[in-house]
Amino acid sequence: MKTIGLLGGMSWESTTLYYQLINQAVKQRLGGLHSAPIALVSVDFHEIESLQHEGRWDEAGAFLARAASQVQAAGADCLLICTNTMHKVADAVEAAIDVPLLHVVDATAALAREAGRRRLGLLGTRFTMEQPFYRDRFAQRYSIDILVPGAAEREEVHRIIYEELCLGTINDRSRARMLEIIDGLMASGAEAIVEGCTEIGMLVGERHTQAPLYDTTAVHAEAAVTWALTL
Ligand code: GLU
Repeated sequence: MKTIGLLGGMSWESTTLYYQLINQAVKQRLGGLHSAPIALVSVDFHEIESLQHEGRWDEAGAFLARAASQVQAAGADCLLICTNTMHKVADAVEAAIDVPLLHVVDATAALAREAGRRRLGLLGTRFTMEQPFYRDRFAQRYSIDILVPGAAEREEVHRIIYEELCLGTINDRSRARMLEIIDGLMASGAEAIVEGCTEIGMLVGERHTQAPLYDTTAVHAEAAVTWALTL
């Protein structure tokens, strides 16, 4: 089995989930006492969040490129950036390493294509919902259209992510609001919802809604395990 590299800490709440999901999937597939060889570097999210909100993306990219090199030096055979938002600097990260970057959009789009879905609703940070880096990869590489909620809803989702979920706070009122926003996206023609933020699955899971969900944390973790177990 190959070693899975994780660039985490953004936030650590969801990196914990990556660690659990990857190990659970390896246990399920190989049985017994098998667990996943993982190399993890976990950054201080305070520093990353400041760079994001000040628009200092080049510095954020350089920061994560250095961290990615550390993951590789620790023995990783591949790298996962454990946040959707920071895929904005995926090119800088990829340029710093020799091992493959397993991109969260590729893993998610592959599942959607398999299910014949071409129009997906997206929830994530404002950066992920509003900037082209995420939606363009779906469109250009997979011919999948991305729908996002209106401006006020995007602001609410963004706030819930940074002020609640990244701090480990699960709030029923926020869940109800998120479900309303999901219903709105489905009513506008989305065939499924991309939970395009690695903490959203903590708040809304399949048991809460009829809408088909792609929880990118689970999707990304599963794709990494498949990659690690494939010769
Ligand atoms: N983990 C989140 C994401 O998947 C948000 C935190 C961040 O900005 O990196 O986008």
